[in-house]
Amino acid sequence: MKMVIGNWKMNGNIDLLHSIVPTLLHEGLGSAVALCLPYPYLSAAHSLLKAARSQIKLGAQNVSEHPFGGYTGEISAAMLKEFGCRLVLVGHPERRSLFGETREVTAGKLHAALGAGLYPVYCVGETLAQREGGLARQAMVDELALLAGVPTDRYAVAYEPSWAIGGGVTATSADINDMHLFIKDVLGPGTRVLYGGSVKSHNAGQVLGLDSVDGVLVGNAALSASEFLSICHTAN
Ligand code: PEP
Repeated sequence: MKMVIGNWKMNGNIDLLHSIVPTLLHEGLGSAVALCLPYPYLSAAHSLLKAARSQIKLGAQNVSEHPFGGYTGEISAAMLKEFGCRLVLVGHPERRSLFGETREVTAGKLHAALGAGLYPVYCVGETLAQREGGLARQAMVDELALLAGVPTDRYAVAYEPSWAIGGGVTATSADINDMHLFIKDVLGPGTRVLYGGSVKSHNAGQVLGLDSVDGVLVGNAALSASEFLSICHTAN
């Protein structure tokens, strides 16, 4: 089954949670669907999903690389698990570009998530400058090296070219296919590779129709129940 993961980023409010989650529950969506919510909404979302015995998975958008200690404002992988999280985004392009998250920090987060039994959705992708300079694949190789030796069923990779995030520009089918096949070539054919970058209901069919695409990571379109549901229905 192809996965659909919604990433609310720093959007929404408790009212949106209480309107979107019951709509998703009503549709009987299963374990191929996940929601990565802002931290304060995780507990309420967990209660709603648990009460409905839903298979929809809950995820966070970030995690600390440290297990505990004097790291004010940070949240550990073990804490995320306590609040029902099964997965976590690691290395999202916005974390890298806006918060200066280096490869070293991303590697720490990846291993903290894996160590706690969370399923990291590891985001990789080239910048526009790297793409235009013909360096897209090289950018990817350096990032993918962090997963060397990790069994492919322990994580997913999200191909998220930073130039396609949030701006309404989607990579072409040929670009997506090319990069997904490249990632599977490096990490192994069993690697689950999702695409993220301005996926909406109107282009989800084109993206999800590619054999090399094992699912999608959806940002802004996950804030609308009808958009998100339509993408979920397209996926399965
Ligand atoms: C994202 O934030 O992971 C993302 C894919 O955003 P958008 O769908 O808005 O481009």
